[in-house]
Amino acid sequence: MSGRFDVITIFPEIISSYCSQSILGKASANGLIDVKTYNLRDFTTDKHKTVDDYPYGGGSGMVMKIEPLYRALEAVKSDGAARRTILLGPQGRCFDQSCAESLAEEQGRILMICGRYEGIDDRIHSFVDEEISIGDYVLTGGELASLVIIDSVSRLLPGVLGDDESSKEESFSWGILDYPHFTRPPEFMGIKVPDVLMSGNHKEIDSWRRAEAVKRTLASRPDLFKSAALNREDRKILDGLCPDESFDIKRSKTEE
Ligand code: SAM
Repeated sequence: MSGRFDVITIFPEIISSYCSQSILGKASANGLIDVKTYNLRDFTTDKHKTVDDYPYGGGSGMVMKIEPLYRALEAVKSDGAARRTILLGPQGRCFDQSCAESLAEEQGRILMICGRYEGIDDRIHSFVDEEISIGDYVLTGGELASLVIIDSVSRLLPGVLGDDESSKEESFSWGILDYPHFTRPPEFMGIKVPDVLMSGNHKEIDSWRRAEAVKRTLASRPDLFKSAALNREDRKILDGLCPDESFDIKRSKTEE
């Protein structure tokens, strides 16, 4: 199974540059992912390769024109392969790990449209499956958002991380945050690596990591407990840390 990502943008180099480096670069070289960019200007018909125009009704900024985008979409889809068509924009559903997981299940066959300026002529919504936002803030363009999706989906595809287990024990993958990680030296500026990690006792290491993950989540993202599937051990740790029955997180479900 390999991932296929098509990106329509007026800045294809932003996408190709990021995707040619590090883990994504290796994944591309090994045929595990295929990232293709389409320069929207190649789908214009005037000599200035115009992709934007003034907004109807007046106001500041320019709006991306629908015709070149439609032609680009048709060109990408002309191979007949099924793919999810995503418009990147701050008004879409908020992207998270479960969204990345469901896109990865579709084998990462995703076509993304990156807006610029004030955004895209709203009629674009008739030609996409959904709009996705990467957070409640406004970026200058959709390229970073598309890279966030390519990166987070790719690392869930088999073989991309080398060790498929490494994406299973990360923040959000088990519903809560990741445990802390340490490497050599054992002591730095008086700060020591927890003894348990050097004990060689894997059962104790696993329990310690799970407890730390619960503690961290309680400290910075207690909202995650509302939907996290905790096992009995996690629940006990949480009960110990937070005995108040009225606290919201008690509503979370416990995994049998
Ligand atoms: N006028 C638009 C609004 O207020 O909703 C913002 C347009 S923004 C300056 C230009 C482009 O950046 C958008 O068309 C979209 O592709 C991209 N973009 C901006 N913020 C984003 C976000 N949070 N998530 C995904 N894409 C975003």
